[in-house]
Amino acid sequence: MFVADYKNGEWQDFRIEPYAPLLLNPANATLHYGQSVFEGLKAYKDGDNNVLIFRPDANQRRLNESADRLCIPQIPEEIFMEGLQKLLEVDQNWIPNKPGCSLYIRPFIFATDDYLGIRPSSSYKFMIFTCPVGHYYAKPVSVKVETKYTRAAEGGTGQAKAAGNYAGSLYPALLAQKQGYDQLLWTDGKEHQYIEESGTMNVMFIINGTLITAPTTKGTILKGITRDSVLTLARESELRVEERFLSVAELKEALDAGTLQEAFGTGTAATIAHIQRINVADQDYELPEKPADSFSYRVLEILDAIKYGKQEDSHGWITKILS
Ligand SMILES: *Cc1c(COP(=O)(O)O)cnc(C)c1O
Repeated sequence: MFVADYKNGEWQDFRIEPYAPLLLNPANATLHYGQSVFEGLKAYKDGDNNVLIFRPDANQRRLNESADRLCIPQIPEEIFMEGLQKLLEVDQNWIPNKPGCSLYIRPFIFATDDYLGIRPSSSYKFMIFTCPVGHYYAKPVSVKVETKYTRAAEGGTGQAKAAGNYAGSLYPALLAQKQGYDQLLWTDGKEHQYIEESGTMNVMFIINGTLITAPTTKGTILKGITRDSVLTLARESELRVEERFLSVAELKEALDAGTLQEAFGTGTAATIAHIQRINVADQDYELPEKPADSFSYRVLEILDAIKYGKQEDSHGWITKILS
């Protein structure tokens, strides 16, 4: 694991250490006050055994945006990128060669002051560790539109990849899982009328040939890097794209009229998670099987081809470490 410490106002002691437990003081500020942000990205092997990392610059920028919101000091770009590259040089044999498999990379920063009291910590740790992964969510998911609990409110921390956001969403997600759903579709915290996103995925709908996804302008939605990649590819295709709020009523109307063609989540874990069943206002809707030429399958194929180095990376999304 790559480790750096922040003390006396600067990041220092950059090192790679064996993966091992940490020793924590019971008064560690993160344990009590949750000053902690994280990222998630993946590395792949191409046919020549080179390591390809998908859009690490975007993760680095987002980590710092999350850090700002939580009063955590930013990680300079060169420390993030060099730490990541050096770690992957050490870890590259852990990257599976099998199709669909990759190395998951988890960068995170957390407070390390041993102090009970609400204030920004003066010391932090930045760490990166990795873990080989297979296909995640390979099977279609069922989701429930949540209209009671809230993931994020305007002015809150919804846009940050902050640890505490996930703690607060566990209980409502558990209730939905007990009813047989894999994930929630969160709605806005004010009126619960507009679809925002899912647990760890942004969500997209194709209605009458138009791709619709919630805008990230209100600070309540995580700015997914997969979301951005899919929107970029959609805009290059024949599809119309609308970044706007889709109301629960409009979703229900489209389901009733049969005009909802595709619904899927986007995120690093699964890239695309097809949605098969949606519960809206206590009514379950099954979505029809999608043909292999539907947008969500095509975009998944293109993204996979770029990530595994089988298609030209015309957007500059790949950072390559030569074998
Ligand atoms: C990480 C995350 C996403 C997806 O972001 P990617 O960069 O595409 O992996 C979406 N929503 C939430 C709440 C997330 O935490």
